[in-house]
Amino acid sequence: MLPRKPIKMRRAIYGGVSKAAGALWSAARALDRRFPQRSFHPKWAPGPLAKQREKTFPNLGFPRETDSLCPRCVTEVRAQILSGEADWRLLVEGSPGEIKATIVEEDGRILMRKDCPKHGRFEDVMSVDPAFFKRIESLYPGRDFVIPKDGLHEHGTSSIKYGRGAVLTIDLTNRCNMMCNPCFMDANQVGYVHELEWEDVKKLLDDAASVKPRRQLSVQFSGGEPTLSPHFLPAIRYAREIGYFSVQCATNGVRFAQDEGFAREAAEAGLRFAYLQFDGVGNEHNQHRKVGNLYDVKLRAIENLHRYGVDITLVTTIVNGVNNDQVGDILKFAIENIDKINTVSFQPVSFTGRDEDIDDETRQKQRYTLSHLAHDARAQAGIGEPLRDWYPLSASGPFSDLKDLLGGLEAEWGSLKCGCHPNCGIGTMLLVHQQTRRSVTVPSILNVDRLLDDVKQITDSARSPTCPITPRRAPPARAVVVPHPGSSQAPRATPVTTEATTCATAPSTVLRGLMTGASL
Ligand code: SF4
Repeated sequence: MLPRKPIKMRRAIYGGVSKAAGALWSAARALDRRFPQRSFHPKWAPGPLAKQREKTFPNLGFPRETDSLCPRCVTEVRAQILSGEADWRLLVEGSPGEIKATIVEEDGRILMRKDCPKHGRFEDVMSVDPAFFKRIESLYPGRDFVIPKDGLHEHGTSSIKYGRGAVLTIDLTNRCNMMCNPCFMDANQVGYVHELEWEDVKKLLDDAASVKPRRQLSVQFSGGEPTLSPHFLPAIRYAREIGYFSVQCATNGVRFAQDEGFAREAAEAGLRFAYLQFDGVGNEHNQHRKVGNLYDVKLRAIENLHRYGVDITLVTTIVNGVNNDQVGDILKFAIENIDKINTVSFQPVSFTGRDEDIDDETRQKQRYTLSHLAHDARAQAGIGEPLRDWYPLSASGPFSDLKDLLGGLEAEWGSLKCGCHPNCGIGTMLLVHQQTRRSVTVPSILNVDRLLDDVKQITDSARSPTCPITPRRAPPARAVVVPHPGSSQAPRATPVTTEATTCATAPSTVLRGLMTGASL
């Protein structure tokens, strides 16, 4: 035990240093406010990186009015276009189905209401916890770039006006080796096969890499079941070749479970993440997918993918009254398997594809919101305080801004940045002890709100070549070797990223991070 005097002395010294650092930081901030420096303009960006004070915000809070669509008009217009009765340009030049909606608080819930002159009133629940809804909106860090007019982002009223895009989803095929209900795509049932040709895939990847801002995206190959496309492996390889590092596939896992060699080939092509459909723990909790041993299939797929170093995200389509009672068990499963699983992504059913004709009563019964998840995680697994531990996905923006700045003016790529609306998705992060499997949420041990504010201020304060954050030259490219456990193949080289690497690359760390979140 240390004598009391040195402890007291050490505390006094730390206290003094901390106060001096605080005073210096306040002085530096005051100086920066008094003599603001211009923003920096890296070559990948369409304009200067915005300082916090220059960022704009959408209309948030409640009550408020917002733009919306009539779900019935949308399906009618689509049918007219497919039958040749209407021209597709109607979607760009007209405003089919567009109506206003109001967002209000009522009886402890946040509701969206809209009236279509033809189809009447629609009402849905956006949150069952107004305080949670309000906090999540308050953490939105502001918009990213204003998108220049380049012909690729103009889609009429729904033209993309801000941001850099975070996920490029390429649906390789509408075929599937399953026939689920729900299916977001109506895969297998529309009566025709729609499958991209190689030239289409290449063009989509090339276009996304050529527009400004030239930035990293999560490139996600999806479907149907993307592993059925003949272009699946070449598409992964090509995406990595042209510079994307976050290349993933949304899969039901059947092919990866059936064929370990296919998992190896995908890993060798450059697949970094498998976004694995996972609706519950145990075969009985996957029965609604109409495959008797689906849980066993998932376990085999996880083993095979992990064996070749592919990181795994469990993806749960969550339907109220069907599998919402599985939130806790899925989180516990991920913690138990923390050596193989990085992320759990809950995706509340969106009533598209096979489900778009659902009646109002069933839709209301099955609706699951972000606030439901925050409360279920706490109630079923004791994980997270709804009003402390959850953040909009876009809250990570300040870290992307900092990375952009550190990348320098000559960097080829901007960082991966999710700028989505705060009502779109939430997330939290857990630290899991690798031996005991005990877990804590990061915000329970770190003041994340304060950290985010500090990062914004640090980024805003970058000002001159003499500043420690000096965006003049990109650092030289480095690579980390990612061994493929169990593989006789040579190790692959992977660009260093800010994301967690697989357990195979992590030194003997005791704690591993687990992300969990939901997006609509
Ligand atoms: S939900 Fe996925 S696995 Fe199921 S039928 Fe649709 S595309 Fe196939």
